[in-house]
Amino acid sequence: MKQKPITKCQYCGSEDIGEGWQHGEGLVTFQYHGLRGNRLKYLICRNCGAVLYQCVAEPHRFPQTK
Ligand SMILES: [Zn+2]
Repeated sequence: MKQKPITKCQYCGSEDIGEGWQHGEGLVTFQYHGLRGNRLKYLICRNCGAVLYQCVAEPHRFPQTK
């Protein structure tokens, strides 16, 4: 991702956006079994705490659906 998809909070209007990662149990995996998976990345408003955006770290590793 070259550019942040979110630069401003849609709820409070703040432009103070923080970045966070969800670890452990929150992993989004592309395998039914096993621990390999992608961390969820979050963009969070540092003013009001709203989660503005979330995505996985390596989306290209997920299989396409037909
Ligand atoms: Zn906000």
